[in-house]
Amino acid sequence: MRKNFFAFLLAITLLLPSVAFGQAVVKISNAERAMATGVTAEQLKQYLYFVASDAMGGRDTPSQGLDVTAEFIKMNLWKWGFKPAGDNGTFFQKMTLNREAVDTANAFMEVGGQRYAFGEDFFRMAGNTTGTLEKPLVFVGNGWLVKSKNIDSYAGLDVSGKIVVVQMQGAPTNASLRILPKGVTQADLKPAAKGTDWADPAAYAQQKGAAGLIYIASPELQGFWGQIKQFLGRGGAMKVKGLEDEPAPTTSALPVILASQKVGEALFAGESANSVKTPDTAPFTFSPAKKIGISVKGITDTATTQNVVAIWEGSDPILKNEMVAIGAHYDHVGTNPNAPGPDKIWNGADDDGSGTVAVLAIAEALAKAKTRPKRSILFVWHAGEEKGLWGSEYFNKFPTVDIKQVVAQLNIDMIGRSRKADDVNPKNKDLSGENAIYVIGAEMMSSTLGAITKQTNDAYLKMTYDYRYDDPKDTNRFFFRSDHFNYAVNGIPVAFWFDGVHEDYHGPGDHADKIDYAKMEKVTRTIMLTMLEISDLKERPKVDKQLPAELTQR
Ligand SMILES: [Zn+2]
Repeated sequence: MRKNFFAFLLAITLLLPSVAFGQAVVKISNAERAMATGVTAEQLKQYLYFVASDAMGGRDTPSQGLDVTAEFIKMNLWKWGFKPAGDNGTFFQKMTLNREAVDTANAFMEVGGQRYAFGEDFFRMAGNTTGTLEKPLVFVGNGWLVKSKNIDSYAGLDVSGKIVVVQMQGAPTNASLRILPKGVTQADLKPAAKGTDWADPAAYAQQKGAAGLIYIASPELQGFWGQIKQFLGRGGAMKVKGLEDEPAPTTSALPVILASQKVGEALFAGESANSVKTPDTAPFTFSPAKKIGISVKGITDTATTQNVVAIWEGSDPILKNEMVAIGAHYDHVGTNPNAPGPDKIWNGADDDGSGTVAVLAIAEALAKAKTRPKRSILFVWHAGEEKGLWGSEYFNKFPTVDIKQVVAQLNIDMIGRSRKADDVNPKNKDLSGENAIYVIGAEMMSSTLGAITKQTNDAYLKMTYDYRYDDPKDTNRFFFRSDHFNYAVNGIPVAFWFDGVHEDYHGPGDHADKIDYAKMEKVTRTIMLTMLEISDLKERPKVDKQLPAELTQR
């Protein structure tokens, strides 16, 4: 009877999931359990030691280390017989990156016959000069207009056709290096009154017909010179062609320069106000003898990078047209030559080397398995996540597959670290334990996806699934901070696995020898089984829940 007994049992199991309760009920077959054992801690370790090695240089976007990692993934996919799903039958979806950069070789600043080097003593914040800009100078204090605070730095001054010099005081309020004048808060600058009641120094100088603007760094800002060098050293930020929302501000007509205190002293030498360090110096016109020359020309810097995209075709003649997507970001933040310590490479072993190799291990396990899932599996390794979810935004905006057929996206970003019981480091207070992991988003859009995610874990290793970051009010906003977000706003139900912030998060210490490979194996196998459960569902998971409004705007 046994055998028949078995056939009868199988029939029951198949019927149960969809008919009985409407909600998916997970039963993990022995075949599926066997497939999951294709993922091993040793395999994950070997791949991660490669991807997170110093040789990959922290996999910045774009960089050679990132490209080598892409080639590594591609070579393995080819070896395992995956179907290329990138551009034109390749495994790569190429992205063009444009940066409005400075022609640094020909950039210079000259004060009183003394030359200053770009990237050392001055940077370009916006605009370009045509040839060398040589104009009379006017000092305008903090350079702001804030009528509601009786601030008008240009009162009584004629600056048209001249270069205005602004003295920065205090520390910047954000990455745009903006410093508000004393007594003015952001709340005072009503967006509607921009340009009339108030104007920042660059806008006001432009309004007044100035030929250029020089900001003299405050002592506080001078302290950040190293970081500023990283940011402004080569010109503006990179943008992905096709994802730009508005043209780069550097196209504005006015050349805007950020100069060091040293240049400031050279400018002030011999003038009535004898030092740039004297705070709140009143506006004055520089002596006509003070000669200056500025040359900064913009060039467009172009680079390319890529998402890595592949398909493992499903076995069901109908369902194989639908896909379960699984992904990670294979980039990190590269190197920091100005890092205080000896280690200048941000290896990104956990972030997101762990996800990158977990997805690779699942691919290998699928390729080595005896059976195929019913639906196809779409693999996407995203580039540029650290730069602002570039790769996933690009893939959703310019999909290389019929994205309407993607029934769910499983995102893995940081699953390799665990908090030990005796760990008292406050930086690890939110790091999940050896048998725990955060799950984000799985219950937000599809109750079926939520049920399968939970039940697969319950029916398998019963890890602690922590859903606390699903709270839309959670200030960490992790739902916005990884690639699943772009699939979610594209209407695809998502589930995201994450181990929590820890002491080496975005630091030079995020190394492969600190990874808990036993935990990684458990999480990766569980995610693989979740993927298999979804791929074999009779019906694709319905999007039966609305994403909370505050979770749709980044
Ligand atoms: Zn990450």
